[in-house]
This record gives sequence, structure tokens and C-alpha cells, in this order.
Amino acid sequence: MKAFLTYALNQEGLLVYVDSVPNGNECNCICPACKKPLQAKNAGRIREHHFAHQPGVDCPTAIETTLHLLAKEKIQKAFYEQDVFNMEFEYRSYCKNEKTCQFVRYDNCYLHERKKFNLKEFYDSCEQEIPYDEIRRRSDLKIWSAAHPEREPIYIEIFVTHASELEKLHSGCKIIKIKIEEEEDIDKVVATGFSEGTRIEDYHRETVVASETSFYGFKTADYNNNNIKQEIAFSRYILYQSGKFQCYQDACLCKDIKRERKNSLCEICFHTDVAFGIHELAKWMGYKRFGIKNCLLCKNYVDSYNGMGKLCRLYKSLGLNRFEPHDTARAKTCTSFSLNEQEMDEFLGNNDVTVPFTEL
Ligand SMILES: [Zn+2]
Ligand SMILES: [Zn+2]
Repeated sequence: MKAFLTYALNQEGLLVYVDSVPNGNECNCICPACKKPLQAKNAGRIREHHFAHQPGVDCPTAIETTLHLLAKEKIQKAFYEQDVFNMEFEYRSYCKNEKTCQFVRYDNCYLHERKKFNLKEFYDSCEQEIPYDEIRRRSDLKIWSAAHPEREPIYIEIFVTHASELEKLHSGCKIIKIKIEEEEDIDKVVATGFSEGTRIEDYHRETVVASETSFYGFKTADYNNNNIKQEIAFSRYILYQSGKFQCYQDACLCKDIKRERKNSLCEICFHTDVAFGIHELAKWMGYKRFGIKNCLLCKNYVDSYNGMGKLCRLYKSLGLNRFEPHDTARAKTCTSFSLNEQEMDEFLGNNDVTVPFTEL
């Protein structure tokens, strides 16, 4: 947020820019937050022109309050002056196979598109500080239709600092929440309308990077898509009776996902296209369930000195030829097998890093 107060209220109660008023106390302006008289500092050539409180007045919320007010005024004005005032958000059409789809429960199986509406085609009015119809709370702006009063209004909530948990407060009402940190943010809304940014989600499909503009009470998704043709990337882990396993990146349509190997003991689909760490995680999950020893789980199976893969450091005493391919299944009967518990704890002990998975 800008560190200077560049707008204030004039005698008529209107927001005015610092360069549009006389210098000093002659400006006849008051602070939108504390309502005390301000002086306009608009003659200088070095510092940015701004309004200042009288000496000794402490008003910590002046800039925030003013920005909030300015956002309401500018957006309302733009709504009336412009023929087009858009709202735009991401619409997701999820897989219809809610019961059988392996991916839909992690929100992976969907098609998406941007939906854009010109609010001016549906609404003709925009008012400030209107109480919600059912809730004792004031919205910053209410966009509604005088010509079609049956149309559900849209409430605009502007946040200059932190946003509250709107979705919990009012389920039902159509609300657009926008975040404003400086005047440029307001100008962007004026120029492009209410536009949802990119949602970024983590493994558990929690939104981790929230958009600056969020939509509540709008239809932004359906669960009825019968025509998903995009393959979903995942990590496939296959464990065999021998204790050997594979772990690799795979992709397919949700309806086609099934076991890859008839003779496998267990196959797991990890719902992530980020392979990093999955190989190790899967290895220890498999061991925990089936308890099959394998050299890859053994402390004695280490990186070879020349960087050419791995070798058993007891190869001499066990009578192994270190230049021949190593059969990791030999651990099943090896008397020197020593479980690498430290590594197992690293991957299974920390519950924070678990990735959603489905057994096939
Ligand atoms: Zn003040
Ligand atoms: Zn699906």
C-alpha cells in the first residue's frame, strides 16, 4: 500500500485528489478515517504530494479507510459509465463417474473454462453500503437490477487488509470478494472487471494461493461431465511377490485406470504428477504392508563408489560378484539383511507429506 494519503474528503463529503485542492489548510479537507482537518502538501517538487494530519494527530487507519472509500467510488462510477463491466471466473466441469472415478475425489478429473459475463447486460444499478438482505451486515457495493428485481443481486466486498471467511458468513448470497492494496488495484478492476486469478492448490486440493478476487454463491462447477478426454498424470507403484517393485510416471483417462500387471502383489496410484519422493514413499509403504525384504530397504545396500548405481557393501563376505547384476530379491533369504529404519521413518514418520493415493 502507498505510504501517502493522496485523497481526502472535501466540504461536500466527496473524495478529492490532493492536486485538485488549494495548498495547506486552505484545502478545507478532512480525513475520511478520523474526520479531522487535513493540510494539503501539494506544492513541493521532491516529496510526493499528499495530505497530512495536523501535527500531533495520530491516525493509523487513514490510508486504509481512504483506499476503501476510493475503491467503492471508482467502481460504482465505472459501473454506470461503462457499457461493459465484466465478471470472469474459472468454471470446472467434473467427471460424472463420482462412484468409480479414481481421480474425481481429489478434484483432478475435470475440464475447465473461463466464464465471462457482462454485468451490464443483467444489472442496471450499483449502490454503496447496502445491508445484506438476510444478514445484518453491510456490503460495500450492491449490484442489482431495477428493471428485473427478481434477479439475485451481487454483493461486492472490498478488502484492503486481510479478508474474512466470507463463505462461512453468508452461504447463499452471491458475493464477490476483491482485495485492494493500492490505487492501481482499483484501476485494474475498473478496466477489466471482477476477474478471478489462478487458483493454486496443494496435494489435498486446499487452495494455497487464493485469487485476489473470489466468487461465492455463483455456480462455478458441475459434476456431470461425461466427456472428459484429457489424460490424468499420476505416479504408479507396482510391487511384486519377489519384493521387487517399479515406480513410474503414468497417465490415462480416468475410466481406463486399472492394474497394469496381472502378477503384481499390489499397485498404487499416487495422485500427483510430481514424482519427486514418490519412489521412496511407495517403497516404504509397500514394505510396511507386506513386509517383504528387498536389498533396496537394507542399510548395507549403498551407492557404489564409482557412482554407477548401488551395491551391497558386504559383497565380499557374502560371496557376491560385484560386477554382476545384483538381484535385490536375494534379501528375502539374506542373513545380513538390516532394515534401514532411519530412512523408513523419514518417509513414513512425517504425516505432513503424505500424498493422496488409491489402491488399484
Ligand atoms: Zn485521520
Ligand atoms: Zn473421472
